[in-house]
Amino acid sequence: MDNCVFCKIAAGEVPSRKTHHEDNAVVSFLDINQDLPGHTLVIHTEHYRWFWEMPDEAVEKLFRAAKSVAAELKKEYGADYVRLGIVGTDVPHVHVHLIPRKFTDKAHAV
Ligand SMILES: [Zn+2]
Repeated sequence: MDNCVFCKIAAGEVPSRKTHHEDNAVVSFLDINQDLPGHTLVIHTEHYRWFWEMPDEAVEKLFRAAKSVAAELKKEYGADYVRLGIVGTDVPHVHVHLIPRKFTDKAHAV
């Protein structure tokens, strides 16, 4: 989709620290606004506005990759757990937020 920054990242047109997964259908990269260190976004390379509009196969690839990236982040950042969230009101391209967290973080329940 034209003018979608995440489509541009997926296409390599915008630099990012990213990792490709499986058949290159999914890309992960550090969020430019690090709420906490390691805040990562996981996206499918095809443009969808909302996750419930995605084909099941694309959802499966996205979440399998998110699971894998979450395990990597937990290890890399020494986290107790990794928060997963999908909001979709900022950039209109489905993206999974993964945030490594510790039980001792302030407001760790969110
Ligand atoms: Zn897009």
